[in-house]
Amino acid sequence: MELSGKRVVVVGGGIAGLTAAYDLARRGAAVTLLERRPLLGGLARAGEDGSGLELYYHFICGADTALVALIEELGLGPELQWTPARTAYHVSGRLYPFTTPLDILRFPPLSLRDRLRFGRFAAQCRSRKRWEELDEQAAETWLRRETGPRVYDVIWRPLLELKFGGFYPQVSAAWFWHRLWRASQSRSSLLQPEKFGWLLGGTQSLLNALAARLSEHGAEIRLGEAALRLVIRGGRVLAVTTATEELPADAVIQAVPLPDAAALLPPEASTWQQELLAVDFLGVRCLRLRLDQSVSEAYWVNVNNPQVAFNGFIEYSRLNPHVEPGGALIYIPMYLAADDPRYHLSAEDLTQELLQGLSVIAPGFEASSLREAVLTTDPYAQAVTPPGFRHRIPGLAGPVRGAYLLDSSQLYPSDRCLSGMVRLARRLVTELKI
Ligand SMILES: Cc1cc2nc3c(=O)[nH]c(=O)nc-3n(C[C@H](O)[C@H](O)[C@H](O)COP(=O)(O)OP(=O)(O)OC[C@H]3O[C@@H](n4cnc5c(N)ncnc54)[C@H](O)[C@@H]3O)c2cc1C
Repeated sequence: MELSGKRVVVVGGGIAGLTAAYDLARRGAAVTLLERRPLLGGLARAGEDGSGLELYYHFICGADTALVALIEELGLGPELQWTPARTAYHVSGRLYPFTTPLDILRFPPLSLRDRLRFGRFAAQCRSRKRWEELDEQAAETWLRRETGPRVYDVIWRPLLELKFGGFYPQVSAAWFWHRLWRASQSRSSLLQPEKFGWLLGGTQSLLNALAARLSEHGAEIRLGEAALRLVIRGGRVLAVTTATEELPADAVIQAVPLPDAAALLPPEASTWQQELLAVDFLGVRCLRLRLDQSVSEAYWVNVNNPQVAFNGFIEYSRLNPHVEPGGALIYIPMYLAADDPRYHLSAEDLTQELLQGLSVIAPGFEASSLREAVLTTDPYAQAVTPPGFRHRIPGLAGPVRGAYLLDSSQLYPSDRCLSGMVRLARRLVTELKI
């Protein structure tokens, strides 16, 4: 095997690091994977309570072919389920279905003209192939021009805010188009509802299967051990330091968000470090609620209501009915910049604010039905990709020989997703030059 005997350190035990480590180990490399948390999974991790419940919701789209191929390769095909899912919009104090073209044609907050305009635009996005010219403009400008101010204010702005908080005016049209395209690939036809995939044991089964394969192939997984520095001499990487030792390496793959990767670079790589730090990131705060009862018929509810602090929630148990027996599992995500006061609000106060918002938009919600509320915060959950980002996508190979990067901004114009990171990680292993 071409990588036989080569020492590779993979930093980060999220889906990208695990997939890269798996392919490297299969090709004979001596792999050490460092994960600073006590458990694998990164943004797709479950909590530490042993329930296996993910801290953030994860669904699989029809376009997620790399992920589906990996699931099958690992023998998890029978665990993969597909469920048609309904969407709804909460606008002006009311909840409207928003799943099929018929729902959209009947959507009262928009005039008939706007509904038709919206429908035509959605169909165009589904069939569009080229995106380069969309990279030159902001999503806001493009959406206003193509669908009009009312459609923008009612439909698109809340979606953009849901994902980018205060950064939403900066997002490129290419990113937004790809997001619509990816969702549209989950419909077998324009008239069918979207179908989303999920694993019976959650993303945790995939993580477990990857970890087991890594061990079978002799890779070493070190949990609770952070990489602290890359050792670089003469323009090539030689080792990675941890708190206790220096691990010699022929190659290092940093499968971590760009700001974490930048923090590992020594002064010799300061130009590269500045490039990585030039990409803005949003953090996420997400409330996971286990309830005695469902609060919505829909899997995904978009929210456009100034009285409510969030722009959407996900009733995950509408997709996976086994996930919360006799009750419902809900996620309320908020993407926030690090200087947003809500990023620093105490967990108790933010939880109260979000529960209060839920009671406004889901009158069926009763505080007494709450089984558990868990608020999770991650600092680097979403890269902000402004117009022109296609010229700034960080390369898989850095300017330092033997040093490689895996970060979701490299998926541009695609949004971050598990499947994209699997695809990138597998590509990187085939391109690795040691
Ligand atoms: C709220 C939310 C919902 C999502 N929903 C979906 C969905 O429905 N479908 C979908 O496909 N995707 C979804 N995603 C995106 C998906 O979770 C990510 O794209 C994916 O998990 C990223 O994987 P990764 O391995 O690239 O990075 P990460 O998951 O960020 O993993 C990086 C790992 O590196 C570790 N690390 C960092 N620095 C160091 C260091 N110095 N030393 C050692 N370890 C280090 C971290 O602890 C982490 O475990 C969602 C994300 C969020 C936040």
